Amino acid sequence: MSNLMEERVLNVRHWTDRLFSFTTSRDAGFRFRNGEFTMIGIKVEGRPLMRAYSVVSPNYEETLEFYSIKVPDGPLTSRLQHLKAGDPIIIGRKATGTLVIDNLNPGANLYLLGTGTGLAPFLSIIRDPQTYDRFEKIVLIHGCRQVSELAYGEEMVAALQAHEFLGEEAKVKLVYYPTVTREPFRNQGRITTLMESGKLFADIGLPPLDKARDRVMLCGSPQMMVDLKNRLTALDFVEGNHGEAGDFVLEKAFAER
Ligand SMILES: Cc1cc2nc3c(=O)[nH]c(=O)nc-3n(C[C@H](O)[C@H](O)[C@H](O)COP(=O)(O)OP(=O)(O)OC[C@H]3O[C@@H](n4cnc5c(N)ncnc54)[C@H](O)[C@@H]3O)c2cc1C
Repeated sequence: MSNLMEERVLNVRHWTDRLFSFTTSRDAGFRFRNGEFTMIGIKVEGRPLMRAYSVVSPNYEETLEFYSIKVPDGPLTSRLQHLKAGDPIIIGRKATGTLVIDNLNPGANLYLLGTGTGLAPFLSIIRDPQTYDRFEKIVLIHGCRQVSELAYGEEMVAALQAHEFLGEEAKVKLVYYPTVTREPFRNQGRITTLMESGKLFADIGLPPLDKARDRVMLCGSPQMMVDLKNRLTALDFVEGNHGEAGDFVLEKAFAER
């Protein structure tokens, strides 16, 4: 059996000139845990050109959804941004990743900290009923440069709060905190700065991070990961991974080349 599946694009939405999302058909045998990523791509000159992508859709849905950057000269995304309904897309059969709730010790509050397309794995996690069983509060923090880059997350959270089965619980337990660095907005500044100043915690009405109570997932730019990892380590948070659960887990939203 090939480790690549050929699926079809069902729907494409462009959010800004740098961001788009798309849904695809899903092989009934494709299994993943909410928060994981897989390889996706297209054939270029007859050969698959693949990149890592977090799955946005929760694992109980019949279709798959992805959220993508458009890198102007990026080998994959300079092409992928022209996808349309009906086009073929290749999806890797094996999903993996550290951003799964099983990699975290039990706790009261789950912080999901993402920048840019680093939001993607958290959109799967916030739609997993188990997340609400395990944690009392789920705090989704999304940092972007511009207000327009928040649109996808805003729409997803609104749809979740209106959801037939998960909506009521999400309204009580999910705290959504979007923040913007380069334009005026109700929440402004980098996630690290907002944490250091205490403004974030004052705004959401929760106490500052404490290893005894809080668990954290990070997904963002390589620099954001370093800054936040250092901050958590200084607070004695222990990093978890596949083998051993911890107080926080992280995944780079992309690799610098
Ligand atoms: C574990 C993991 C999960 C990922 N999940 C996603 C995802 O859900 N959505 C997504 O769009 N990308 C994701 N990526 C990045 C993705 O794999 C590709 O890098 C991206 O699609 C660009 O591909 P490319 O071939 O066009 O350019 P590449 O040659 O891969 O990248 C060129 C440059 O573009 C920049 N870049 C790449 N991806 C991003 C990004 N997402 N945001 C900001 N700058 C970027 C980097 O500076 C990089 O050096 C993920 C990467 C990893 C490692």
